[in-house]
Order: sequence, then structure tokens, then C-alpha cells
Amino acid sequence: SNVRVAVRCRPFNAREKQLSSPCVVKMDGARTTITNPVNGTSHTFEFDHSFWSHDPSGGGRGGPTHASQETVFDELGRDLLENAWAGYNVCLVAYGQTGSGKSYSMMGGGGGGGDHAGVVPRAAREIFDRMRGDDSARVEVTMIEIYNERVKDLLNAGGGGGSTNPFAENGGGGLKIRTHPTRGPYVEGLTPCAARDYDEVVRLMDRGEKARSVASTAMNATSSRAHTIVELRISRADADGSEIRSKVSLVDLAGSERSDATGATGARLKEGAAINKSLSALGNCISALAEKGGGKKLVPYRDSALTLLLKESLGGNAKTVMIAALSPAAVNYEETLSTLRYADRARRIEGTATVN
Ligand code: ADP
Ligand code: MG
Repeated sequence: SNVRVAVRCRPFNAREKQLSSPCVVKMDGARTTITNPVNGTSHTFEFDHSFWSHDPSGGGRGGPTHASQETVFDELGRDLLENAWAGYNVCLVAYGQTGSGKSYSMMGGGGGGGDHAGVVPRAAREIFDRMRGDDSARVEVTMIEIYNERVKDLLNAGGGGGSTNPFAENGGGGLKIRTHPTRGPYVEGLTPCAARDYDEVVRLMDRGEKARSVASTAMNATSSRAHTIVELRISRADADGSEIRSKVSLVDLAGSERSDATGATGARLKEGAAINKSLSALGNCISALAEKGGGKKLVPYRDSALTLLLKESLGGNAKTVMIAALSPAAVNYEETLSTLRYADRARRIEGTATVN
């Protein structure tokens, strides 16, 4: 299949520890089991990978071994890069509730460097390693944010490329999505930045990250309500001189928590609706693509800005990996179960969810 689905369980956070909330997630090989803390019933799901990152100091002793950032990159990132190098478009999507570990998996923790570096910096490093000695190779980077169905260029946030405040509730339009007759959907006015080496990518990511937090403060919202897409566009010459092009799309999705919590009104409610619309559209696209003999079924890319923009990275010969981030704690049982169900549906293998 062109779609692979992984889940990853993080350590307890400070709040979960303080509440002494027990761990309700277990992993065994590729299988993940979650147990309802109230009535003890369990649900077991099988994925392509179940990454146990709950106990960095532990591992072994009959339990699952610890999955480090390096493990996750080796299992998911390398294969994607192999494909990108061969000219396929590839896409890695992180899904999960706010605080579940999406950004940690994608970008990394504690400044992003060293052992905590996530898939994005590791992928960038690997790409430049491969490019060494190939003068034809070029990398361009874009970083955008989608909020309430509006698109913002995070690398050129200051001037040009759109209205002054794309996130204003009234009037702010953001960048337009247009469809090129042969190349498909694209963001009008989005300017890719050339990157000559790994450090340059890191600087660009920092710049994007700053633009993101500025925007989220200005609109009094948190980044957890927006989708962030980093795209590495690679081009190089084949042995016979023809151009090989590919896109590596790295998507840190908005938090998946349900917006039906009491008190969501007005702008908040609208945000929630826009997030859920994108997330369900993405789920629908991925499961349509993952179906056997894919291509027969209509893939509903047009249902959201997110899926429209990912069309070239999800469809055709593209390779897609979803990593669903899980909290281990009983206090998050409902959200974690819904994440597992989303991931399971994306994988579209009937009958693997068993209710015991
Ligand atoms: P999200 O992006 O889903 O909102 P984050 O990635 O920011 O969540 O993770 C929330 C917190 O948990 C961060 O402090 C992060 O460093 C930590 N964390 C998440 N996953 C892991 C992990 N696998 N190992 C160690 N710490 C993690
Ligand atoms: Mg995040």
C-alpha cells in the first residue's frame, strides 16, 4: 500500500504525573491496546508500527523496547526519503490531540537538535548528505500555516504575499489556492526559499516557527488550532541529464480534540468546525487512497484547503505515512481512543479493531 500508519505513545507529562493518572496504553509488536479506566474493557488495533516511547529509561525486560527519535526516523523517514530521492512525492502527517507529541515527532524537543531532533531536521540532514557531490541537486523550502481554511506563508510573513493580517476574522483573506492545469493545486504568491545546506533549513524553520507564534499571539489563539506544512522540494539531474523532481511534505496537524466541549462559541466554534472539517477530509482522502486498487474511488481532495494542497503529495504515486501521537494517560482515554480509531480508519484494514 502507498499508505502506512504508525502510532506513538509518549511519556507522562507533568499534569498526568501530578494527577497520578495511570497508563492505559499497551503495545506489543505492531499492536496497540487501550483499556477503559472505568470499566476495564479493551480495544486492540494493529498498525504498521506501534512505537513505544513512554519510558525512555526502560525498554527490554519482556516489554516493548523504547522507540527513540532515531528509531522513528529509521522506520518511517528513511523509506520516505528513499522514495523522494527516486522522484516520488512523499508525505508524513502527524495527527493527535494537543500535547500528544505531534511536534516532538516532526520537529523535535528541547530546541530540536541532538537526540531529540525530529523527523524534519533528520530528513533535511539526510537530503543534504545525499546531495553532496551532486552539483545538479537543489532544495527549496516552503512553510505554510492553514488556519480557518486560510493559508499563510510563514517564511515570507512580513511583507508581500497576501494581506497584512490573513487571520483577521473579517476581511483577512490569506493566500489564494489555485489549480494549475498540469501541476495541480498550488498557493498563489507562496515564495519558496532556496536552501544550500542543512543549517539554512534550520534557520528557515526557526523563522517560520517565529512567524507562527507571532500570528497566534495576534489572533489570541494557539498554534494547536492551525495546520503547519513544511515542504522540501528537491530537484536533481538523472544520470542521463533529465530532471528528477519530488516534494517531501511534512504536516503537523492541528490538535484533533473535539470541539464539542462546552463553551465553544463564536470564533472558537468556527475554528473547531474548520479543524474538524480538514481532519475528516484528510481521513476520507487517506482511506480512499489506502483502499485496495486505489484510484477507482473518488478522492475528495476538494473538501478542505488542507487536502487540496496535499493532493500531489497524497495521490498518484505518492507515498504517505501517518503518525498518530498518543497520550498514555487515563485522563485522556476518550481522545486517545478517538485518535486510534482515526488512525485505524486511515489504514482501512477491516476487522482489525477488536472490542474485547
Ligand atoms: P503536540 O505538538 O501534539 O501538541 P508536543 O509535541 O508539543 O505535542 O508534545 C508535548 C510535550 O510532550 C512536549 O514537551 C514534548 O517535548 C513532550 N513529548 C512528546 N512526545 C515525546 C516523546 N516521545 N518523548 C519525550 N517527550 C515527548
Ligand atoms: Mg504541536
